Amino acid sequence: MKNNLQNTNNVINKKIDWNLVQSEMKIKFGNEIYESWLKKIEFIDEFKNYVLISVSTRFIRDWITSRYLDQILQILKEYKKEIIRIEFVINDNNFIKENSEKNENNKKNNLNNHNVSFIKDSFLQYNRIDPNKNFDNFVTGYSNKLAFEASKKVSQDIAHYNPLYLYGGVGMGKTHLLNAIGLNLKDKNKIMFISAERFMYQFVKSIKSNEMVKFKDYFRNTDVLLIDDIQFMNGKEAMQEEFFHTFNALIEKGSQIIISADRPPNKLLRIQDRIKSRFSGGLVVDIQNTDYELRYNIIKSKVEELKLFYSNQITINDEIQKFISTEIRTSIRELVGSLNRIVSFSRIYSKVPSLAEVRIILKDLLNLSENKVTIDSIQTIVCKFFKISKNEMLSPRRSRYLVRPRQTAIYLAKMLTSKSLPEIGRSFSNRDHTTVIHSVKTIEQLRKTDNELNVNIDTLKNKILYNQDNEI
Ligand code: ADP
Ligand code: MG
Repeated sequence: MKNNLQNTNNVINKKIDWNLVQSEMKIKFGNEIYESWLKKIEFIDEFKNYVLISVSTRFIRDWITSRYLDQILQILKEYKKEIIRIEFVINDNNFIKENSEKNENNKKNNLNNHNVSFIKDSFLQYNRIDPNKNFDNFVTGYSNKLAFEASKKVSQDIAHYNPLYLYGGVGMGKTHLLNAIGLNLKDKNKIMFISAERFMYQFVKSIKSNEMVKFKDYFRNTDVLLIDDIQFMNGKEAMQEEFFHTFNALIEKGSQIIISADRPPNKLLRIQDRIKSRFSGGLVVDIQNTDYELRYNIIKSKVEELKLFYSNQITINDEIQKFISTEIRTSIRELVGSLNRIVSFSRIYSKVPSLAEVRIILKDLLNLSENKVTIDSIQTIVCKFFKISKNEMLSPRRSRYLVRPRQTAIYLAKMLTSKSLPEIGRSFSNRDHTTVIHSVKTIEQLRKTDNELNVNIDTLKNKILYNQDNEI
């Protein structure tokens, strides 16, 4: 079978045999990886130069994409050299069914008529609404509450705010909200969910292939047009012209338009003034930077999601949750990504990582403060906090008022630096590494019951990591 597939030059009707691809993946990646990540991939369909596969969550998709996709593509190319990319669907069950029906039709069309409209084709590829990004799992806080409320409002009451323009930094939840709106409205309305880049691409392609009429019909037929990342729209006059007319036509017929961008309308570059002013004509809402509370709530909710997904076989303790909520502030995407990394680590090594391990796992995402944390600075800060001198901390004296601060400093050195136990011991007047272990264990034990100690340690951590007193 395999030879048969490989040695024929007649590629037109050659079909990919997914079972064969799977056996190759097993050989290439080994049983363990295959069983954990690749086995459950469902093959949906092949197109001229790409294949469509499905997995059950975004997390798995991202994991496969970042680690194995290139090699899977190589395997596929052995069977069909035209394949240049792999597309994913995240499958909730209905979704698959719906798509395979569509694909059935598509296949039939392909047989009868090779000239399937690229618009339909790309509609299948790009108009995907991800069932995992909905309103229920969108966690709100001070910074995104308005955007959330406005999005819900347009999902209940179309064309109330028109257009709705959401803006905010990278990874702050804009696409998630657009997707949630689409998800809510898709059963009763014709939805078009597209990035501005895609819009331009299709525009240019439809001019080239003389399908402008279809293009116009296609867009002007929608009830809800969701355009993501409008800041990337920088097309020629003709395209902006077309966009402007589409926009006006849709608003006129009472269709809802929702736009996302990384900046407010008046800051958009290379976009005609009249379009910008149109964008400002409805409701403009921004998503601001997250605060600690929102980050922590997002992490908590993702941990719950993951627990459900992995049938409770996941423990990411509260200390780690707090740590990443404090540390990963740049975007929610990175925040969620860090959690996924930690979960993968703990699954692969079958253990909950320590804070020191977490620092290593997330090294590239953590800010530079890591490099500034030295045992010396920890000692200084802890001494100041407990009002003892450094000489006292480093002395062999075992008075109670010295022992606890000393143990705390040792514990923090273990948690916040990547120094080994003997190294830490040496920095505390050549104490033995067993003393270090004893100190760490004592504090860990006390933390289970001693609330005051917990508060002190959090405060100290913040002082050490950020030179600040107020968070947590
Ligand atoms: P943007 O489009 O603004 O760059 P995304 O919508 O792609 O950001 O969000 C990045 C990731 O963070 C996605 O996985 C998304 O589901 C998640 N996310 C963002 N905001 C929230 C939130 N408030 N609650 C839960 N998950 C969120
Ligand atoms: Mg986005």
